[in-house]
Amino acid sequence: MASNRTRNQDQILQTLQSLNREIAAQDLYIYLQENGHKIGLATVYRSLDVLKQQGAIQVRTMEGGISVYSSLQRDRHHLNCVKCGKAEVMDKCPLHDLEHKVSTDADFKVYYHTLEFYGLCGTCQQSEKGDDRPQDTEVITESIKSGSHPHSSQHCC
Ligand SMILES: [Zn+2]
Ligand SMILES: [Zn+2]
Repeated sequence: MASNRTRNQDQILQTLQSLNREIAAQDLYIYLQENGHKIGLATVYRSLDVLKQQGAIQVRTMEGGISVYSSLQRDRHHLNCVKCGKAEVMDKCPLHDLEHKVSTDADFKVYYHTLEFYGLCGTCQQSEKGDDRPQDTEVITESIKSGSHPHSSQHCC
């Protein structure tokens, strides 16, 4: 890939690679400032956008609509617990083969993919079971058959 990146874009790409974690644009901007890189926030946003379109970085939109950026080496997926908010990292990506398949079958150049799982973590499953909720609440539905007469109004001619 021919790269005609600007100095700022290179800087941001390198920073994402060395950070090796997901970071929001705002936080990346602060990080760059703290490390003596004088890049404006607008430039950070613009550079991230360019890098995204080049397929050089990946973007994930979190709950609440905040986009977090990371370098491409991070092929990681999370198991998000909806109860305690814990996000476990899956030890393996289950989509590697699929990605190749999409590339050939759909004639689509895949840059990266996202995959998130939501549910209950082990700890929260345990606490769910521990609840003193009665398991066998049988709902007794008494279907009362009311002897309603069919009021069929028959017209006798
Ligand atoms: Zn949990
Ligand atoms: Zn993956």
